[in-house]
Amino acid sequence: MKLPSLPERLAVNRFVTDDESCHIVVDQEIARSTGTVQRLISCCPAGVYSVGADGSLEVEHAACLECGTCAAVAAPGALRWEYPRGGFGVQFRDG
Ligand code: SF4
Repeated sequence: MKLPSLPERLAVNRFVTDDESCHIVVDQEIARSTGTVQRLISCCPAGVYSVGADGSLEVEHAACLECGTCAAVAAPGALRWEYPRGGFGVQFRDG
């Protein structure tokens, strides 16, 4: 039996996006000067972080799995992460 790939497993989750409030806020200067940008891009299993055309760190918070890894690897002051407001965020499913 073939196990589903990571993208296939992630695709079964449901996300309720909070368009009024982002639960991830990045200080671009601190993130850039401390090497946090690359750590965030490397650690996030959902691909939430990327570098935009202007070189700034972009955050696609709607895909966040709420694992908290990014908050653990970011330099102090580079990232403010908290759980989404009640009723928003990821809803895990068992396939
Ligand atoms: Fe990515 Fe996890 Fe951070 Fe969400 S909490 S942005 S899934 S590393």
